[in-house]
Amino acid sequence: NSTAPFQPLTVEALPARLGELEILASKLGPDSTAWAVREVGDGNLNLVFIVEGPKGAAVVKQALPYVRLVGESWPLPLKRSFFEYHALVRQEARAGKGTVPAIYHFDETQALIVMEYLSPHIILRRALIDGRELPSIASDLGLFAARTLFRGSDLAMTARERKADLALFAGNVELCDITENLVFTDPYFEAELNRHTPELDPLVVELRADRDLKVEAQRLKHLFAANAETLLHGDLHTGSVMVTDDDTRVIDPEFAFYGPMAFDIGMLLANFWMSFFSQAGHEQEGSRASMRAYLLRTVSDTWSIFRAEFAHLWRTERTGMLYASSLFEKCGDPLGAEQALDHVLHSLWQDLLGFAGVEIHRRILGLAHNADFETIGDEVLRARCEAPALSFGRHLVVNRRHLHCAEDVNALASLIEKEV
Ligand code: ADP
Ligand code: MG
Ligand code: MG
Ligand code: MG
Repeated sequence: NSTAPFQPLTVEALPARLGELEILASKLGPDSTAWAVREVGDGNLNLVFIVEGPKGAAVVKQALPYVRLVGESWPLPLKRSFFEYHALVRQEARAGKGTVPAIYHFDETQALIVMEYLSPHIILRRALIDGRELPSIASDLGLFAARTLFRGSDLAMTARERKADLALFAGNVELCDITENLVFTDPYFEAELNRHTPELDPLVVELRADRDLKVEAQRLKHLFAANAETLLHGDLHTGSVMVTDDDTRVIDPEFAFYGPMAFDIGMLLANFWMSFFSQAGHEQEGSRASMRAYLLRTVSDTWSIFRAEFAHLWRTERTGMLYASSLFEKCGDPLGAEQALDHVLHSLWQDLLGFAGVEIHRRILGLAHNADFETIGDEVLRARCEAPALSFGRHLVVNRRHLHCAEDVNALASLIEKEV
């Protein structure tokens, strides 16, 4: 199979094509004619099949040579599957088993990954739209981010190992290019693939004429492109997390790339804030007051758990070339190490606010919108949710150096949300 040239799978052809795969036979049962297959990909890029047999189930994710959302007119390399596979392996090693789906098999030529079927998990974004307060996401995702970002950097890895890894992921050019353009540039001018809710027109004109905003967005892009600090997930939004009340799994790291630590955590918090601003659009079946409070609590808890874990790793696993303990703890200057930690966390905080701001803008003004707002059918109501989110995002991008803690930023989000 893996010597044959790439061919997209279909629901009909999958059992015959993957029937010989030992790992699938052992998970599902050896008679592939008894397997039931459905395609469930709801993402923008790839095919995702759930395969169920008499013994169990598995997921098969396959890349296509183009962007699924757009079609064959937008080619995209199959190699993204290679980067996704290698990122999943590293995330599991760094954040622990059970933080990502277990990986059963990878076929580079067919650009397919066979992995654990997460069930009864649902996409976190969906759960938040439904008004579900998941009790452990702040802790699970704060730890996931701290562990993957710290352990993938020069704070923890040997220089040789990290540089080899950097070289491996440097090939993920086309997916990185999507981020560079769709996130940092397109929202700020009339790019061809952009769209927005028509009621937002006046605000959109204002934002695209906002020189300070455009300059800051480009400075953030500069930071994203030039700071190869750690292996990022690269697409860590609430649609890349699957949950039950007591389990949290991060999926879909095909955008994995070396970039600034603040990018992943900023994108994640942006998605919690967008969920917060979208709640008014989902209020028909009852008040979302408790959900709003929960979402802001999730922002501050995620950040404080991230910070605590990052500080813990700094004190116990700082084995890389940066801030060597020979300069600090080992010559009786533990305070020096703490001072350096404060500097690192402080710039991480400021940068993440900026990344959060542009992520909010691109989800409302760019090509790839998110269901939090898109599922609000009434356009006037949707615009009433999106407008304050845009203002909030603008504030984060432009004033991020003057915002001190998650509680202050949350208070601001509440204020802006009530004003409109
Ligand atoms: P894309 O890269 O196209 O966005 P994703 O990896 O995000 O693809 O998967 C698309 C959808 O498939 C997810 O939103 C989820 O519903 C489903 N899915 C993906 N991986 C799994 C899994 N391991 N178990 C169960 N469902 C999954
Ligand atoms: Mg996805
Ligand atoms: Mg767990
Ligand atoms: Mg994806």
